[in-house]
Amino acid sequence: MDTAQEPQRSSPHGEFARVAISVPVLRGFHYRVPSTLSPQPMVGDRVRVFFRGRSRIGTVIGFDSAPEVERVLDVQEVLGIESRIPGPIIELCRWVSEKFGASLGETLEAALPPPLRRGGKIRRIAHVSLDVEDRSEGGIRELVEKIEKRAPKQARALRILAQVGGSAEEREIRRLAHLDSNQPLRGLETKGLIRRIFVEGEPEEVAGDSAEQASPPPLTAEQELAVASVRLAMRRSRPQGFLLFGVTGSGKTEVYLRALQEAVQAGKQGIVLVPEIALTPQTVARFRSRFPRIAVLHSRLTERERVQAWGRIRSGEVDVVVGARSAIFAPVPKLGLLVMDEEHEPSFKQQSPPRYHARDVARKRAELEGAIVILGSATPSLESFVAAQQGELSLLRLPNRVGGGVLPETAILDLGSLPFQKVPSALSAPMKEQIHRTLQRGEQAILFLNRRGFARVNVCMACRESVQCQDCSVSLVLHRRAGRLLCHLCGHEQSVPTQCPNCEAPGMRALGFGTERVEEELRRNFPQARVARMDSDTTGTRGSHERILADFGKGELDLLIGTQMIAKGLDFPRVTLVGIIFADTSLSLPDYRGAERTFQLVAQVAGRAGRSDRGGRVLVQTFQPHHPAILAAVEHDYEKFVKGELQERQETLYPPFAQLLRILISHPEEERGKQTAQEVRERLESAGRVSWGILGPAACPIPRVRGRSRFQILVKTEKEDDFRDLVSYARSRVMTSAPVRVTLDVDPVSLL
Ligand code: ADP
Ligand code: ZN
Repeated sequence: MDTAQEPQRSSPHGEFARVAISVPVLRGFHYRVPSTLSPQPMVGDRVRVFFRGRSRIGTVIGFDSAPEVERVLDVQEVLGIESRIPGPIIELCRWVSEKFGASLGETLEAALPPPLRRGGKIRRIAHVSLDVEDRSEGGIRELVEKIEKRAPKQARALRILAQVGGSAEEREIRRLAHLDSNQPLRGLETKGLIRRIFVEGEPEEVAGDSAEQASPPPLTAEQELAVASVRLAMRRSRPQGFLLFGVTGSGKTEVYLRALQEAVQAGKQGIVLVPEIALTPQTVARFRSRFPRIAVLHSRLTERERVQAWGRIRSGEVDVVVGARSAIFAPVPKLGLLVMDEEHEPSFKQQSPPRYHARDVARKRAELEGAIVILGSATPSLESFVAAQQGELSLLRLPNRVGGGVLPETAILDLGSLPFQKVPSALSAPMKEQIHRTLQRGEQAILFLNRRGFARVNVCMACRESVQCQDCSVSLVLHRRAGRLLCHLCGHEQSVPTQCPNCEAPGMRALGFGTERVEEELRRNFPQARVARMDSDTTGTRGSHERILADFGKGELDLLIGTQMIAKGLDFPRVTLVGIIFADTSLSLPDYRGAERTFQLVAQVAGRAGRSDRGGRVLVQTFQPHHPAILAAVEHDYEKFVKGELQERQETLYPPFAQLLRILISHPEEERGKQTAQEVRERLESAGRVSWGILGPAACPIPRVRGRSRFQILVKTEKEDDFRDLVSYARSRVMTSAPVRVTLDVDPVSLL
């Protein structure tokens, strides 16, 4: 029996529990354990304590015989065993908090599902529905206009509620309408325009999809080799990591399934991490058909479902856990295998404290628990590729598609060389031609544009100014169907001006393209085709994402336009054309990962074409037809891209050749922000460490967000030890209090 699994008891009575609380403060706090308290707490238990005058829930991380401070409060209550954090997870969290510069309290909390963070109380779920007689578009618009002036948030919520069909979960409406409280919904209720009702979360229908037969297909020789390597490593039962580098359609999932089977047969459990948007019923069904004892963790579970799943996982009732990023903390009792599919995906990095990268956590957890980890991708992150080159990960290759399916034929369309068009179009003539032919053959096409909304900017034809967000330094995006201008950073929304807010000239023009405009163009150009759009504007409500995919899969749609949501894991044999409307969206970003992101997106989207013997074609529209990232993606040549890119990273000393800490300093006033940033730099310099390469402070590429001016300092180090010192120093020495905000981001995935 592994002793780390056995929670330590708090004996004898009267000792002091060290409790980690979810605040950015590093140390734990001492609380007295009254001998009358029942049950007595153990390490890992969640306990209720008073902290700064408020009742809070924290995690017991140890016991001491004497407290650090004189005045010690009592532990109030020990919460149920269902929220206890197992020993190995505490150890993992300790590592995460040190590596990523967060407090242990924050990290432990992130390792629990939200309802357990709050002490296992399951909230009843509020639903809202329209309570008005005239639900017609005109009727709603009239109401919206009437309340818009005095209560813009209420107006927005009302309009969105009408748009999604008149009834939805309250939290969905809050999310879609960017409301930070439910005050506006209460207001609408008081006005008698909507009704709010509360229901207990209903268990979700689990689709018992048996699309794939439960008996596994015979492996290809390449798959066999990969599985054998993993099997060998498992039998040796020493932790080991693999990078499964396989082109799209090469059968990586089958390798995961077989490896999981090995783990389960050995009496252990497996965890599979996939990007949230790849967690489709299609994906889940493939795992469920082999492992009926499965738990699927995704953001749309109700709280009750989440708590139940957690309970089944910790009791060992579940063989395989499939989930997004946070499933890395799933408390399986005997971890055998960790799989991370699409390991290059930026969504594996958490964007709030603790800002961990699930890939690093996965590797660490495997090491701590003696498990195997498989990172899989058709376009591995440079970090993993270099780790494989250096022998930290074993490289497994699947260079061919299963069944000899060929990679699609690709062509680049240079947007700069196309003849001038008075009315700009997102679809070039060759693109239209290919769509036309695809439709004629009765096949399907996927079109990809990583930008939602109708137009990028609304520009005045007289002064050339575009309408800016009031709180952020970005242009507002026109969403034409909603008839609104939207800030994609903070959610601010306003009506579309008929004259320029800057010079008052009439005639604003919509420039640039978003998915909404492409959808419109498709409908106009191909009136007979059935068109759907998939982006976060059309998939707000529960089930809508799945519905669009299901309709497309059944052949009830011909053309699908979408954002990166459609880039992942979709496997539709009748798709023979993939069109990339504009491949350059991430190339122009001032971010060292721009080229890598572009390569990955183009290569992944291209992989959606020709998944059957009908073959396929990919058309890439770009203004930079000679960019190495685009050329390599089109030639399906990962290694060529990596070679060039790694050389550049090495010369400029960026990850994976250095580690990077981003310190973001923000303040409502620009001058004060700048001054604080300068002070942070001085404090870093005063540590006198020559190995820290400090860049900045400089204004961020997006200098203002949500009414705060933003500055950043980047610190690079080459050695792991130096970096650890740096993070630890920064955690304790550069954090300040409101109204300044200082955040640390280790290995950031974005520098905007
Ligand atoms: P990847 O995850 O690498 O993109 P998939 O695992 O989705 O690839 O496999 C592509 C297709 O090939 C799937 O439809 C899968 O069912 C099928 N497939 C995988 N391995 C085999 C095999 N050994 N024999 C027959 N079909 C297979
Ligand atoms: Zn904004």
